[in-house]
Amino acid sequence: MAKINDNYLKLPGSYLFSTVAKKSAAYSEAHPDKNVIKMSIGDVTKPLAPAVIEAMHKAVDEMANAETFRGYGPEQGYDFLREKIAEFDYKARGIDIAVDEIFVSDGAKSDCGNIGDIFSVDNKVAICDPVYPVYMDTNAMAGRAGDYVDGKWNNIYYMPCLEENGFLPQLPKEKVDIIYLCFPNNPLGVAATREQLKPWVDYAKENGAVILYDSAYEAFITNPNVPHSIYEVEGAKEVAIEFRSFSKTAGFTGTRCAYTVIPHELKLDGVELNSLWNRRHTTKFNGVPYIIQRAAEAVYTPEGQAQTKEAIAYYLENARIIREGLTEAGFTVYGGENAPYIWAKTPNGMGSWEFFDKLLEEANVVTTPGEGFGPSGEGYVRLTAFSTKENTIEAMRRIKELVK
Ligand code: PLP
Repeated sequence: MAKINDNYLKLPGSYLFSTVAKKSAAYSEAHPDKNVIKMSIGDVTKPLAPAVIEAMHKAVDEMANAETFRGYGPEQGYDFLREKIAEFDYKARGIDIAVDEIFVSDGAKSDCGNIGDIFSVDNKVAICDPVYPVYMDTNAMAGRAGDYVDGKWNNIYYMPCLEENGFLPQLPKEKVDIIYLCFPNNPLGVAATREQLKPWVDYAKENGAVILYDSAYEAFITNPNVPHSIYEVEGAKEVAIEFRSFSKTAGFTGTRCAYTVIPHELKLDGVELNSLWNRRHTTKFNGVPYIIQRAAEAVYTPEGQAQTKEAIAYYLENARIIREGLTEAGFTVYGGENAPYIWAKTPNGMGSWEFFDKLLEEANVVTTPGEGFGPSGEGYVRLTAFSTKENTIEAMRRIKELVK
């Protein structure tokens, strides 16, 4: 008889965001007169930039013509896009990344999840707590997480990110092999400076570990001491893989385009991880649509840069409104300065699901309970800055009213 991958059976409950969505839908159904404001899932609300739309239309027209039609493209992505990525996202910051170190994909979520394919199941994995759930769940699916006991995976090294450490993880006290880092962070909204990242690169070098660096939110960085890429830290090319995405940078959450960087210097036992990923990517993936890659390319035009930056500034302004609004309402808040996420402490030690319910029912504002991101998220909720400005202002007004 065929056997299933029974690691899937170990996965706890339903996915965090579907529980949040179900609760909020049930509330809206029961109270159709209420205008529920969603500050939960990290999805953008602004449309694609005009420069991006224009490039897409042009590419669609090309597909209608035998001379310019494109079928299968290179699995790793077209050079026209990879060259722009190398130039704008790396060279402009003094980092030398070759085109063949860049793999274009349909999402940082897929890449963060799939990257486990090239690592042995025996690796010890260190993951922040709280965390974007994909890292944990995909390691569990691969059999690298052990068993889920009392709300924790017993073979994962948890790195608690707590208030007393500015919500930054601390270097592992035991030897680990794979370290997931995400800055600017989802869900905490905090970012690490170059100086704060350097010890991680040193640790990885000393221990033969690999850092999986998710910088999906780099476009939100405002502090010049926060690096946009882990490769801004000396030596990182030998130890780190970087994940980037057009989702939050340019509103591509529904359009789907991202990329992963694996420098040739990164080797384990003399084997380049770049070549393993290339093998994996070309075997299991057939490339991002031509139309979408042209759209992503347009992000790097002067118009595309100006338009996408404007959208980021809009969300950062929302983040400021949330930070200030919640602070005025008497809450302790973190993040939101280099990220579209605000991490708010629940009042009087209230549980995070309890506070989520209270905000939903009494202020009609949907947040995400911190506990859903990991045990150390208990006592917090996450708010996102991706609503409209009007809704963000209204949500803060309601929350202030609630605590009056
Ligand atoms: N990484 C982090 C930390 C995220 O928060 C998200 C989306 O919310 C992703 C990756 C997914 O990005 P993509 O839309 O490219 O799959």
